[in-house]
Amino acid sequence: MAKTKITIDYDKCGYKDGVEMDPRNCRKCLGICDPAVFLMHPTLDEHPDPFNPEKWMVTPVWPSMCMGCMKCQEVCPVGAITVEPGESLYTMINEV
Ligand code: SF4
Ligand code: SF4
Repeated sequence: MAKTKITIDYDKCGYKDGVEMDPRNCRKCLGICDPAVFLMHPTLDEHPDPFNPEKWMVTPVWPSMCMGCMKCQEVCPVGAITVEPGESLYTMINEV
């Protein structure tokens, strides 16, 4: 079985390509995910500026913890998250 894959479309969440959305004003994916798969963090630019909303992003840093509940995908107001459930720590533990 393939590993769980979670992707975020930064054309929808963030400031890429003219889209103006500060992910810090949303945070719905962070709030609804029980195993805390997502992290809100400054971009890894050479000149990170914590006061610039364009320098913030959400990353699914721990997809191995995903339970495959799909709540993040459902709650995202702009449809930026895609979850492809597969093998994760959660499924491995629960298969035993
Ligand atoms: S599918 Fe559920 S467990 Fe997985 S990242 Fe989304 S909210 Fe978290
Ligand atoms: S719920 Fe969607 S729009 Fe909101 S911060 Fe998460 S990925 Fe971005």
